Amino acid sequence: MHDEGCIHCGARAIQRIQRLFAIGTDAKRERSRSTLAVWMAMGHDEARLRALAKAPEWALKPEGCSGNRESAPAVAGTSPRAPSGKKRAR
Ligand SMILES: [Zn+2]
Repeated sequence: MHDEGCIHCGARAIQRIQRLFAIGTDAKRERSRSTLAVWMAMGHDEARLRALAKAPEWALKPEGCSGNRESAPAVAGTSPRAPSGKKRAR
């Protein structure tokens, strides 16, 4: 579903591994590394891929691409801006 010509898709694939897979840290590192290698082989910049993958929000290409059709999955509890713990006095 990911477009290997799109750096955002690569970053998102890595984010998906980091956030969604219930596997050990080492396994995540291995998967991330191999995913990174796939996109780097397509000519993308490693530092940029890593920076995008590290960002708190999903790496969605602003103008959209084929890989964006699946959109960012909603993962409970991992939203960086979840307004939890705030009580409204009313
Ligand atoms: Zn994309």
